[in-house]
Amino acid sequence: MSAATSTGNAPQPLYSGKAKSLYPYDEKHYRMVFRDDLTAFDAVKKATMKGKGFYNSQIAATLLPVVEKAGVPTHFVKLLSDTEHLVRKVRIVRLEVLVRNIAAGSIVKNYGFAEGTVFKKPIVMFDLKEDKFHDPLLNEDIAEALGVSNADEMARLRAMALKVNTALRGYLEPRGLLLPDFKLEFGYDLEGKLILADEISADTCRFWDAKSKRSLDKDVFRFDKGDVLATYKEAFERITGKKAA
Ligand code: 5GP
Repeated sequence: MSAATSTGNAPQPLYSGKAKSLYPYDEKHYRMVFRDDLTAFDAVKKATMKGKGFYNSQIAATLLPVVEKAGVPTHFVKLLSDTEHLVRKVRIVRLEVLVRNIAAGSIVKNYGFAEGTVFKKPIVMFDLKEDKFHDPLLNEDIAEALGVSNADEMARLRAMALKVNTALRGYLEPRGLLLPDFKLEFGYDLEGKLILADEISADTCRFWDAKSKRSLDKDVFRFDKGDVLATYKEAFERITGKKAA
């Protein structure tokens, strides 16, 4: 997210990212707004689709409590409206934690796995959160040299990410969904506790229909695989159990 500039009388976000904006709320919380924007390939491809913010907000508001119940604390407190989350203030750790169960996306492109290969055990990877360098892969030494993280913290992040993976798979599998991979972000809350931040949604996860292996996530936008909004709607309905209006 980048710092926002102040214009006009409309409330200005503290930060505005590619699909969400963060506004002040109170001493301990922010208001996180899910917008209708979609981006891919480091924001080279962009679109706006009415309703997309609603679907992702609802998916995240369903999955974050699943993770919390499984013992991984998160920044999510409650929905303030259909597209707004009340979240705890955190200081973000400047890396992304990726968990992969099935080969798709960059692990296919960069390492030559056949798409759809089921890994014997989940693969955890760390990327630097920096679009201008295309989120390069990190190891403990590079992370420490950059002042982004260190081996102890990365070991804790890995353990938390694997717990999130087990919780999400346990929730999604009975709903006929596979979880090939996903991205997590973490931060320190005001008490100095390491917690899960950001979102868990169709923008940050790959969801596949278990039978057909059809994508129900942002890959439909990335790779022009079909009707993007209908895809987010189906992901919303299957994950939340609610019917879209
Ligand atoms: P890949 O490495 O294949 O591009 O992504 C692996 C998984 O992490 C996918 O589910 C993808 O959506 C998610 N992911 C990786 N990097 C990012 C990112 O910078 N932003 C978002 N929203 N998701 C990401």
